[in-house]
Amino acid sequence: MLDGATAPAGVESGCRHDVPWLVMRLARELAPPLLTRSPTPLPDLLAEAIAGVRATHADTCDVSNPDSPSSTVSMVRLHPDHVEHLVLADSPVVLRSPDGKITVHSDDRIERLPERTLEAVRRLRNQPGGFWAASTEPQAAYEAVVGTTDRADIDVIAILSDGASRFTERYGHPWEELLDVLTTDGPRRLIDLVREHDAAATTPGWKRYDDASVVLLQGP
Ligand SMILES: [Zn+2]
Repeated sequence: MLDGATAPAGVESGCRHDVPWLVMRLARELAPPLLTRSPTPLPDLLAEAIAGVRATHADTCDVSNPDSPSSTVSMVRLHPDHVEHLVLADSPVVLRSPDGKITVHSDDRIERLPERTLEAVRRLRNQPGGFWAASTEPQAAYEAVVGTTDRADIDVIAILSDGASRFTERYGHPWEELLDVLTTDGPRRLIDLVREHDAAATTPGWKRYDDASVVLLQGP
């Protein structure tokens, strides 16, 4: 799951490309090693992908600009007896065990910033003590939340963009309910419910609507 960060109006990114370009290039770098079952650790794969994308526009753009386009990255890799996850920025990976226990792997550093002004976000992106996202700094990959879980302890995996996880994180429904909706009625239903909340929100914040995507993995 790659969820590009919307650039606030008036920000000079130093980059002639847009956020969809960055997301497409990252996907293009990440897909081959994942699809060919590379044994490389996920943070190394991501660092190589960020470095690869950076190289494609280092000659045309100011890749040292902290407002260069950026994206969240959430990955899971299934092995016969365990599952790896990597979460960079706010697209959580949610696991449910066969007996209903829920584990949320999330990277909430952007939520915990002391201030959220444009200037603060600019200053704290991809900096120690700030928050990390996939942009031009390969080191960000090693700041991701990573881990492994026994396959026997998982019967459902959901990867959500923050536009979908807001069903729980903003609108307060329990994670249990979110997974029930996904596994009973499917991702489309969850997104419809989020849109109903979005439309009715009385304090919508700076983004009433956001891209909402869900990957649901179920079964043995
Ligand atoms: Zn560029």
